[in-house]
Amino acid sequence: MNQQRGNFLQVFFRAVTGLVDSFAIVLLHLFRRPITEEYPEFKRVLPARARARIILTRDPEGEERCVACFLCSAVCPVSCISMVAAEREDGRRWAPWFRINFARCIYCGLCEEACPTLAIQLTPHFEFCEYDILTLVAEKEDLLVDHGGKNREYNFYRHAGVAMVGAKGTHASEAPPVDLKSNMP
Ligand code: SF4
Ligand code: SF4
Repeated sequence: MNQQRGNFLQVFFRAVTGLVDSFAIVLLHLFRRPITEEYPEFKRVLPARARARIILTRDPEGEERCVACFLCSAVCPVSCISMVAAEREDGRRWAPWFRINFARCIYCGLCEEACPTLAIQLTPHFEFCEYDILTLVAEKEDLLVDHGGKNREYNFYRHAGVAMVGAKGTHASEAPPVDLKSNMP
């Protein structure tokens, strides 16, 4: 009986202190000065990972990173990215034109996640509203910047991307091709 009474008092005490704590916090906020940030006079610095205007970046050698693989376009939930693909004489792919319709973009960041070359990146710059919706269609010249964005050192073509020249198994550190028929039982 005494044990039950002790438990009840403990629970009651915890409930009362919880209530008192909550009311104390509410009272504290009642007497605090309100914080009003006047936009656009005051502009809060957004974190680097904030998702707003999209850019196309360059690798450390100044080349366009985009290899026109269409992954960003395929993953975009509102289908607002379009491009054409082409290949240079040295086998490097690129996009002769690249277009994003910012009027449809929902700034989800999926294109950035999907991009294997870090070409397409979202930036914290959000102040690009327009009265004419047609001016929100950005062409490649509006998107391409002269730097590497968030990861300036990354160079996709150091790892992959150029079309293979020469027979399989003839390149540095490359094993000869497997003869699949020799694996048959
Ligand atoms: S942020 Fe989202 S909606 Fe905008 S272009 Fe990228 S994938 Fe499409
Ligand atoms: S995913 Fe990246 S490399 Fe591929 S087309 Fe889009 S921006 Fe270019």
